Amino acid sequence: MDYIRLRGIGVSPGIILGEVVLADRVIFSPRKEYIPPYRVNEELERLKAAVVRTHEEITLVKEQVRSMVGEEHSFIFDAHLLILKDPSLTAGLERLIREENVRTESALSEIHEHYQNLFAAIADDYIRQRQADVTDVLTRIHRNLDASAGIAVSEDLRGKILVAHDLLPSEAALRLSQGGVLAVALDMGGPTSHVAILARSLDIPTVVGLHDITRRVGVHDQLIVDGTDGEVIINPPLMVRKEFQGKKVKYEIYRHDLRRVATWASVTLDGVRFMPMANIELPEEISHALSYGAEGVGLFRSEYIYLQRSTLPTEEDHFNIYSRLAREVYPRPVYIRTIDIGGEKALPQLQIEAEPNPALGLRAIRFSLRNRELFRIQLRAILRASVQRNIRITIPMITEMEEIGEVRVLFREVQEELTAEGYAFDSSIPLGVMIEVPAAAAISDLLAKEVDFFSIGTNDLLQYYMAVDRSNEFVSYLYKPLHPAALRLLKFIIGSAVRQGIEVSLCGEMAADPLLAIVLLGLGLRSFSMNPIFIPRVKKALRAVEVRTVRRVVHQALNLRSAQEVEEFITEKLLVKYPDAFLMSGPSV
Ligand code: PEP
Ligand code: MG
Repeated sequence: MDYIRLRGIGVSPGIILGEVVLADRVIFSPRKEYIPPYRVNEELERLKAAVVRTHEEITLVKEQVRSMVGEEHSFIFDAHLLILKDPSLTAGLERLIREENVRTESALSEIHEHYQNLFAAIADDYIRQRQADVTDVLTRIHRNLDASAGIAVSEDLRGKILVAHDLLPSEAALRLSQGGVLAVALDMGGPTSHVAILARSLDIPTVVGLHDITRRVGVHDQLIVDGTDGEVIINPPLMVRKEFQGKKVKYEIYRHDLRRVATWASVTLDGVRFMPMANIELPEEISHALSYGAEGVGLFRSEYIYLQRSTLPTEEDHFNIYSRLAREVYPRPVYIRTIDIGGEKALPQLQIEAEPNPALGLRAIRFSLRNRELFRIQLRAILRASVQRNIRITIPMITEMEEIGEVRVLFREVQEELTAEGYAFDSSIPLGVMIEVPAAAAISDLLAKEVDFFSIGTNDLLQYYMAVDRSNEFVSYLYKPLHPAALRLLKFIIGSAVRQGIEVSLCGEMAADPLLAIVLLGLGLRSFSMNPIFIPRVKKALRAVEVRTVRRVVHQALNLRSAQEVEEFITEKLLVKYPDAFLMSGPSV
């Protein structure tokens, strides 16, 4: 038997051996097929019937998914119905059939290509992946051109590994939510694709970006899917299977260990309490986050509410999501960040103008203050969901004091409005700001007097402070959180909050790195918010050190000249004294 190893991107950890199920694939062919003019009407009828069948199919699948996994995964089908009903889509298809005399299949291919080019021009990865929604709808129409195709509900995938070219978002929702799928391996996809997000929240090991796995596997092939390392092995020989068994056992122990760590107290060796929290994008990540030991949601990126659908969310949509968050996380706190939209995160439903320099453009609070109606809706919904008093509101990208003033005025108006309408809410709901613009960092001593808490967003803060585009791999070598300049700035921000007696947490990626978290502890930080899968290792590291020593070492390091010197100095000083803090066993997930 042939044995092949393929490298991809591991988007959901775990390691599994099992049998393949290959999902069929509709290929949009660039070859044009023509029809004689007298068949145009017949072809238009064929298209119309396929659109009607597609509508019925999506409605049915939506209902199934809603009853199996809940409302939030069925939203995607509303988006699909809207795409299907979009008159420009059907008009485009009809025009191609009528004017160019092509078969419906060719018209679908051409429209598909048109949308692909359109989406490819958008820089934001997440938005670009929404192209999958359009592909999803066009694929369904394509399939339904064959009147006998039957409604595409899924076959039994229990105990199998699903291999597909690119799982359409609706298929991912339908097939994975039925339960029992062992693992997923795809030719296409990236870490922010819908299938990746879903697989992570359902805990299904998944590798994407394998290029041509669908061409290399056959129906009854055996597969090892290693979602931790991003590897897939086709028909592994006995020796490799043994190796796999060992790795699987190690992974299970590691997982067990993680869950165990989750139950430990969050205190340092010298008894100082710290607080690990989770950064999440979707409410369905909550249980996952809590199982890793999150003691709250330190950052809920609310823009994902917009990114998940193609229409504008209503106040009720917002309210339902925030209420669920507050309820499921209670009594722990939830920090809801108002939308960080604009610039690169342009949304089709908002017609945002392209900007020459989106990172420095109309994003986050700048966008919200320009689009007050949207902002008002969001604030109303957050307030209405705050009755359990565990919600806090975080305002992103604050640059100057005036912005806080404007937010406060609007906030008061919304509160008065709600009171007049008879709604209950938390009238002392804490209002805080992200510190992620260097100007805000520089006046953090003054800002601390105006707000209830700080949340330091080092992803943006360091990008702007060091002039290093956070998504440009060519300059990423300059992105150094241990640069003495970064440490001095962070010390000032944390100190500003502590001196004023307000809460301060940090929710950039930096908080997820054990060594960096130790350094932050030394700078006075006690709340760390991160992707939940990193909580156990950070917790382990912080539990293994003493604040009094770390503080002294880190403060000495502030006088060193470079990130490298800082790293060497801190590691050397702490490694011998606290070896456990540096023992991050297990696979790096
Ligand atoms: C940050 O900038 O550090 C942050 C947490 O926000 P985001 O990554 O969503 O920009
Ligand atoms: Mg940010």
